[in-house]
Formats: sequence, structure tokens, C-alpha cells
Amino acid sequence: MQTRLLINGQLVAGEGPSLSVLNPALGTALAHINEASDAQVDAAVRAADHAFEGWSQTSPKDRGVLLLKLADTIEAHAQTLARLESDNCGKPYLAALHDEIPAIADVFRFFAGASRCLAGSAAGEYLPGHTSMVRRDPLGVVASIAPWNYPLMMLAWKIAPALAAGNTVVLKPSEQTPLTALHLAQLAGELFPAGVLNILFGRGPSVGTPLVTHPKVRMVSLTGSIATGSHIIASTADSVKRLHMELGGKAPVIIFDDADIEAAVAGIRTFGFYNAGQDCTAACRIYAQAGIYETFVSKLGAAVASIRYGLQDDPQTELGPLISAAHRDRVAALVERAIAQPHMRLITGGKAVAGDGFFFEPTVLADARQDDEIVRREVFGPVVSVTRFDDEQQVLAWANDSDYGLASSLWTADVGRAHRVSARLQYGCTWVNTHFMLVSEMPHGGQKRSGYGKDMSMFGLEDYTCVRHVMFKH
Ligand code: NAD
Repeated sequence: MQTRLLINGQLVAGEGPSLSVLNPALGTALAHINEASDAQVDAAVRAADHAFEGWSQTSPKDRGVLLLKLADTIEAHAQTLARLESDNCGKPYLAALHDEIPAIADVFRFFAGASRCLAGSAAGEYLPGHTSMVRRDPLGVVASIAPWNYPLMMLAWKIAPALAAGNTVVLKPSEQTPLTALHLAQLAGELFPAGVLNILFGRGPSVGTPLVTHPKVRMVSLTGSIATGSHIIASTADSVKRLHMELGGKAPVIIFDDADIEAAVAGIRTFGFYNAGQDCTAACRIYAQAGIYETFVSKLGAAVASIRYGLQDDPQTELGPLISAAHRDRVAALVERAIAQPHMRLITGGKAVAGDGFFFEPTVLADARQDDEIVRREVFGPVVSVTRFDDEQQVLAWANDSDYGLASSLWTADVGRAHRVSARLQYGCTWVNTHFMLVSEMPHGGQKRSGYGKDMSMFGLEDYTCVRHVMFKH
């Protein structure tokens, strides 16, 4: 197993304290890895800063060639990467292999081509005797901080646009799930010039903080919790760094009376519970209209009760464990507090699973109310709540009454209503009659406390550039 850090083109052992990396399905250690020391964080940033001079001057075509090679390399190592991801996150192995790896390779391929299409607006004469042009140029060193739910996918979303635009990168994966990033460090280290991509390991306070506050870092890109986002925003305020924040979510899912109920139930069974619900877009905050409410709740309960949880290598397994014992206990406490309310109905699930792994039963709670904690707070686990609503006005107000603004969906057969409601939802993405589907060409990102900045798409590429005006006197 590759457990060294990538700094300035060299694989080196961390010089900080050793941390255990777990298999959450078994609760056992997979590896013990040393964090980066302060000196290694500094060395990685300085290497990236030094490499920026050359890398930012390469042509988009040449950068694209390397990103395409990286995509091919990821596919060539698909089984190893899927195995590491599956062991480290508890994800079903086949889902990691067939769902995630192809999507990850596609992100690198998209940005390899997109960088060649990046353009400033057309030049013009806005002052007599002068020609103006707009350029989009790279920023410098980008510090990228990734979460544990889709470790390699989030790495791809961060490093592909940053490198494609001509920046250099120092990436820190989550201390809980570093194995695929460290394996990729070796693969990418053989492709990219020294210093262009650096990969560290360690916790937020010990490695993340010195990285994001380093004076030579020009931009910080985080996918993580709102608490970490706020902390980074505050700690980088003095140095006025460019920020890109992909934070939490609590997606409203609106099921109207005229929806295809079977499709909605099947959709929530999949999109509310994929990755054990540890997904910022998870279909978790359901509003069902009064006319279909009871039928919907009963069908959803039966569907969710049929989800099979278990070990990664069992091909029947649909749902893995939560990432840690602490996270499982947090989810359990949220569900316990919800069930303790007299109006709440537990339809299925509701408990942590006994044993060494960090499993939680797939859970449906019905009759939840708008002000309930379970409706307002991100659970990030295999738990959905259902709330009854009467009409469009009411459900729009409730759906938008949230700190979050990342993803949403509505389910209806009425095209007019689909347009009307989707136009008024305050979310970075709204799906109609589906949920969760992402493509590299379309932007992903939030509003409100879900953050700002876009991943994927041309908008994602532009976020990693600076708009510059250059004027020529004739
Ligand atoms: P987290 O905020 O605890 O950690 C995310 C990363 O930030 C980790 O690498 C962590 O080590 C690092 N970090 C923590 N403190 C830091 C500090 N002071 N300075 C620098 N880095 C620091 O989040 P998590 O628990 O790993 O991930 C779950 C969260 O991520 C959820 O809230 C989820 O909604 C969110 N998420 C959002 C998206 C999105 O696209 N918006 C995607 C996936 C996950």
C-alpha cells in the first residue's frame, strides 16, 4: 500500500505523528500513516509555487495531454483504486468500480478538453486609439481540501480544473480516507512535472490550517462541512485569498399528488441511501402531498426496508457502513431525538447495527414537521424524513426555508408546475422526476450556507482563473 506523501515530485514518508486509517465495515486498521510535518507543508507549497512559473506557461493542449494520460492511468488501475476506496470507506466494491471510477476518469477527460476552450471575451476598442482584451489566467498555488465521502471523486473535482487552468496544487485528502489519494500520488507523480501536484496527509488543525493559511497559497478550495468552511473563511480573511466552498446540503424532495409514485419511491430508495446517505445531495428531506401521503409513506417504508446492508465484497450489498463510530453515534443521536417526539412515526430502521462495523439501519421517519431538527439539520446518513404538505405555495416556502442551498428535486406529471416550481427553488441544482444525476458538463455547487463556487463544467474551470484586462495603446 502506498502511504507516502507527494512533495516536489518525490514520494516521502510523513514526518508528523502517526494516525490509524480504518476499514469502517470491520472497525479494524488498514494502515498507520504519518502526517505531514509543518516543514513538509511548507515544502509542498514552496514546490508548487516554484512549479507554477513553468506550468502556467504550458499550452492548454499540453496540460490536456497529461490529464488525458491520468484518466487512462486511473482506468488502468481501476481495480486497485476501487479496492482501496471500498476498503477505506466501506462502500460496496462494485459500486466503487462501476459507478465511481468511470465518472472520475471522465472528469479528467472533460477538463482536458475544456481548458482548450477557455476564452476571455472578444477584444474591442472602448477608448479611441486603444484596444482592450480580457484574459483568463491561472491564479498560482491552490490548496485543495477534500472530504471522506467520495475521496477520489472529490480529488478529481478539485485537481482537474485547477491543473487544467494552469495552477499548481497542494491537496489534502481527509485524514479518514487518504488511501486512494496517496495511491494516485504515485501514479500522477510519474506524469506531472515536479511540484505541479503535491499530496499531503493529516488532520485539519495540524496540516489543513498551515496549508490554507500559507502566504504563498492564492486560492483555497474546500469540500466539507459548514463549520470547516466558516473556519477557513475566517482564518484566510486577513490574507484575502480566493475561496471556493462546497459545503453541506439538506435536499428537499417534493412529491406532488400527480407524480409517478413508483418512480419516486424507487428514486428515493436509491438516491436517499446511496453511499449510506453520506452525500451532500442525498434525497433526504421529503415533502409528500396530502392526497398520496399515506400510500407514499407505506410504499417507501417497504422499499427502504428491503435495502441490504453488509460487507463491501458481497455483491448483494447495497448499503455500507458510516465512516466512523463517532459519525454513527451522531446519526443515532439525531434519530433518537427525532423518534422521542410524540408526533414522529418510525416507519423502518432507526437503530445502529450491533457489531464491530459502523452500520446504521436504513431509516424512514414519517410525520416530521418543518421545525423538527431532523428536517433542518444535515444527517449525512441512511435516514430520510417525510413531511405532509397541502399545496404548492406551502411546499415552496418550506423547501426554501433552509440554511442549505445545494440540491433539490420535484416529482410531478405537470410540466407547467415543474417549470414554475423549479424556477423558484433556491438551490444550486433542481432535478425534475429524478435526483442525484451529475454530469461533468454541468455545474455542481450551492448557495446560502452550502457555499459558493462551482465544481465541474466550464464554470468550474473559470473559478480557477482570474479575469484580467489588458489594454493596448495604438
Ligand atoms: P469536514 O469539514 O469535517 O472535513 C473536510 C476536510 O476539511 C477534511 O479534509 C478535513 O481534514 C479538513 N479540515 C477540517 N478542519 C480544517 C481546518 N481547520 N483547516 C483546513 N482543513 C480542515 O467534512 P467531512 O466530514 O469530511 O465531510 C462531510 C461534509 O462535507 C458534509 O457536510 C457534506 O455535506 C460536505 N460535502 C459537500 C459536498 C458538496 O459538493 N457541496 C460534497 C461532499 C461533501
